[in-house]
Amino acid sequence: MYPAIIEDYVRPTSVDEALKAAGKYEAGEAMFLAGGQSLMQAVKSRLVRPRCVIDLQALKELKGVSAGGGGIRIGAMTRYVEIMSDPNLKTAYGALADAAEHVGDRQVRNRGTIGGSLCWNYVAACMPAANLAVGSSMELLSATGKKRAVMVDDFIKGPLETARADDEVLLAVTLPAAPAKAGSAYKKWGVVTDALPVIGVAVYLELDGGGAIAKARLAVGGLATGPKRAKGAEAALAGKKAGDPGLAAALDKAASEIETQSDHWADSTYRKNLIRTLGADVLASAFARAAGK
Ligand SMILES: Cc1cc2nc3c(=O)[nH]c(=O)nc-3n(C[C@H](O)[C@H](O)[C@H](O)COP(=O)(O)OP(=O)(O)OC[C@H]3O[C@@H](n4cnc5c(N)ncnc54)[C@H](O)[C@@H]3O)c2cc1C
Repeated sequence: MYPAIIEDYVRPTSVDEALKAAGKYEAGEAMFLAGGQSLMQAVKSRLVRPRCVIDLQALKELKGVSAGGGGIRIGAMTRYVEIMSDPNLKTAYGALADAAEHVGDRQVRNRGTIGGSLCWNYVAACMPAANLAVGSSMELLSATGKKRAVMVDDFIKGPLETARADDEVLLAVTLPAAPAKAGSAYKKWGVVTDALPVIGVAVYLELDGGGAIAKARLAVGGLATGPKRAKGAEAALAGKKAGDPGLAAALDKAASEIETQSDHWADSTYRKNLIRTLGADVLASAFARAAGK
């Protein structure tokens, strides 16, 4: 389908310029373009009708992964292909690389960005679920110059809804410095390889000196209402070591506390079984990464 008329297209070379362009329009009239993998479909189907498209692709300041004493900063315009191979995202934050590696196909991974995925917040998307597990924070800047940081738990709202205001640009996704023994992993199951997940499970673990779980975050994607944390399961994982039979009981808890839908891809029971089986796989990977294996 042809898109509705777009009156203006701008390709700023600085964030300031991008925000100035956004500030000229009423809320929702100007939209930022990242990789275009979701936005262009939405424009073509007239789900959204921006008067102005502000293309962020020339903004070098929004690109790349950097690590320092305070943690890791992933620019909003960092593409999946860069995230999946970044050396800083192999252990504690490996769930983000796992998610990026299996998003769509090669073309989507070469264009799509972490910022675009989080700002779009499609219900079944991989990146929001993986971010929910690792506990990232969103760095936002508004057209009025106000900067704020929003934890992913508060950023992700209902389907296609986030805490971002229309005039705010997502600058970066930040991750706290992780302790030495931390690991995370994400795995999904879709009807075909690398399709949107019927269920995706992400887990983040911090281990104590004896190898037992000191802190866990477990998130499930592929749900009709968007990704959710399984907080009962997280509590049940505390104190468990790799191979402990209590891990399966914690995943049973996740399967029972997460509301799963039945649709033409899979019924609710099948989805709950996926939470258990994918959950066992990601726990094993996260334990191994946390132990430096
Ligand atoms: C064939 C295909 C298969 C796919 N498979 C999967 C899959 O398996 N798993 C999965 O998770 N996703 C999948 N996707 C979706 C994909 O992940 C998209 O890349 C992602 O949803 C959007 O990222 P983008 O960079 O393309 O953003 P865009 O489409 O450019 O933008 C998306 C939205 O975010 C806003 N936005 C973007 N960047 C910013 C910013 N910095 N600040 C403020 N607002 C911003 C835009 O205004 C727009 O509303 C698939 C897409 C396609 C086309």
